[in-house]
Amino acid sequence: MIKQIDHIGIAVRSLEESLPLYTETLKLELEGIEIVESQGVKVAFILAGNTRLELLEALSSESPVAKFIEKRGEGIHHVALGVDDIEARIKVLRESGIRMIDDTSRKGAHDADVAFVHPKSTAGVLYELCEPGLPKEEQG
Ligand code: ZN
Repeated sequence: MIKQIDHIGIAVRSLEESLPLYTETLKLELEGIEIVESQGVKVAFILAGNTRLELLEALSSESPVAKFIEKRGEGIHHVALGVDDIEARIKVLRESGIRMIDDTSRKGAHDADVAFVHPKSTAGVLYELCEPGLPKEEQG
């Protein structure tokens, strides 16, 4: 089931230029920065109460985030819904006629399993299903 909004993805041209707004002006805490090769992005997670903001900077002009910025400019890119049993979620959505960008989950930031829903099926909103990975100390 869908549990909560896990994070909101925001496309930015440059993390370096964007971060001060969040960390200095808005006084939010930077949780960490990581590279997600599978999505061609460098991401910064910012803690915002009981959810997070995910700033996305493209690693190359081929990255979907680069294409998004080229077309629509910087701004809100996707809403991530925290789910459990992501493969079952994907199956139910597909059976309901929802088009998926990812027919099976792949690894996203934080070792979460993620899958994107096609915005043509969701009135223009790019939703990411996100099943959080286990915290590091519980792995292995
Ligand atoms: Zn995301």
